[in-house]
Amino acid sequence: MYDFSQARNQVLQQIQNACDTAHRSDQVDLLAVSKTHSHDAIRAMYALGQRAFGENYLQEACAKIDALQDLEIQWHFIGHVQRNKTKLIATHFAWVHGVDRLIIAQRLSDQRPEEMPALNICIQVNIDGQDSKDGCDPQDVMAMVEKIQHLPHLHLRGLMVIPAPNNSEAFFQTQKLFREVATRYPMLKSWDTLSMGMSSDLLPAVEAGATLVRVGTALFGSRDYSQDR
Ligand SMILES: *Cc1c(COP(=O)(O)O)cnc(C)c1O
Repeated sequence: MYDFSQARNQVLQQIQNACDTAHRSDQVDLLAVSKTHSHDAIRAMYALGQRAFGENYLQEACAKIDALQDLEIQWHFIGHVQRNKTKLIATHFAWVHGVDRLIIAQRLSDQRPEEMPALNICIQVNIDGQDSKDGCDPQDVMAMVEKIQHLPHLHLRGLMVIPAPNNSEAFFQTQKLFREVATRYPMLKSWDTLSMGMSSDLLPAVEAGATLVRVGTALFGSRDYSQDR
């Protein structure tokens, strides 16, 4: 039987150790990335106090959100946002981490139902210029912030990044950009989130100022993509 409690405590301890190393006393949030994992696994994590869960396959996520409505989960969409999927995302999630074009932000704002709270979003930035990666060019971030901050049904929270493996310098570059935005837009009170770090690189990410780490494997074990979900 998989020991969810032990896995979660280890991850929380790793985060704490990284905070100690970096002399940080502020909060680092743990997003449990539950993609490919079962409803039961999510319920088990929830029973341990976990409330924020991240998914990146939209169909799978929507099925889980419907099936787990009895729980008070804060759902984060962390996958790439396709233009024709914005409606489902805007109606099902509390957070979206992968916004990398203005048109996507505009659609999410337009399609967010009036009766729901503003949708929290992070701008995904391709900080290390990977060819294959989603995310906007670092040079385009200011212009996106300029526009997105005025969209009525969004709360612009910060930046999200997935650098190439073993590139901890990229985390520091992202932090620098994050601070540049904060300095340039002091009125943007919601700008408080640096979403970076996964199972294998959460220590360098937290040391570079991550305020939210997105952890799957270290919490739930390895993923089996062959299973029919
Ligand atoms: C899958 C995924 C994660 C979690 O990755 P692990 O290595 O399993 O911790 C984090 N962020 C994004 C965007 C992901 O797609």
